Amino acid sequence: MSDTRLPTVDEVRAVAVLGAGTMGHGIAQVAAMAGWDAVLYDIDDGAVAAGRDRIAQNLDKGVARGKVTAEARDQTLGRLRLSTDVADAVSAADVVIEAAPERLDLKREIFTAVDRAAPAHALLASNTSSLSVAEIAAAVADPGRVVGMHFFNPVHIMKLIEVVAHDGSAPAAVELARAVGERMGKTPITVKDSPGFASSRLGLIIGLEAIRMLEQGVASAADIDTAMKLGYGYPMGPLELGDLVGLDVRLGISEYLSKELGARFEPPALLRQMVDEGKLGKKSGQGFYRWQDGKKQGS
Ligand code: NAD
Repeated sequence: MSDTRLPTVDEVRAVAVLGAGTMGHGIAQVAAMAGWDAVLYDIDDGAVAAGRDRIAQNLDKGVARGKVTAEARDQTLGRLRLSTDVADAVSAADVVIEAAPERLDLKREIFTAVDRAAPAHALLASNTSSLSVAEIAAAVADPGRVVGMHFFNPVHIMKLIEVVAHDGSAPAAVELARAVGERMGKTPITVKDSPGFASSRLGLIIGLEAIRMLEQGVASAADIDTAMKLGYGYPMGPLELGDLVGLDVRLGISEYLSKELGARFEPPALLRQMVDEGKLGKKSGQGFYRWQDGKKQGS
């Protein structure tokens, strides 16, 4: 059991985000918007600068759309600090959220460094989308203060956050992660540390079945997507969503979950074939649909 005295959400003053890529910049943005001092750290100084630029662009768009005031934009940017020194980045953090590449050895290395440099009371969270949180937590002296905080892309827009509790997570750590998520304007759900958590596990099985239906000629891609949009109220069909996520990414998760959870997650032949042919979805211009200038054209 954890002996760390974690802060309450009202005691949180500073949040450090490790990794300034797709997810990290967004997490730092919502942390600063929540009123906390936010440090955005990366090993690459180009990445931290690009992360800050992306935050500024997101906020400018928000101002143009009337969703963010100019004052809130300026205050948010004023609360943001950049760093390329991990010890400096976490030294005053009450909450640390890691968003580095999805590799267990790398995440464990980062958590070991953070354990040495962060205050003993800090909550330590990983934004991993598939790795075992327990295995990441084993890299620190008190695994009780470690949880998963799984954000969704784009972070400043998507409302869900999966708070992932491993067997040794202290209840106070789970509670604080949920409260931090709420202050960031998200709706937290609590999920056990298990492959695919809740969102990927359920989302993927529907996506894979849609591909199998396409393989079997049950209906066209557009009609399968329309079935789920109009019949079940999905905002977007499973095949279009696959194109957005990237078919290579979907294939990787499918291979991982089939290993961990069984044959029902095995990748359909069509998915492998499309990835082999470089049809990766929106980012390559062709997936289940054709894409041009970021817009869906047709199948
Ligand atoms: P990304 O490649 O866009 O960004 C990763 C950043 O980490 C890069 O800027 C890189 O320079 C930096 N980095 C590399 N080594 C580092 C180190 N030792 N310390 C600190 N930073 C380091 O990746 P991403 O898409 O933002 O994914 C980050 C994490 O979030 C992964 O665990 C991923 O599985 C998870 N995730 C991604 C998404 C998504 O849609 N992209 C959604 C949910 C969760």
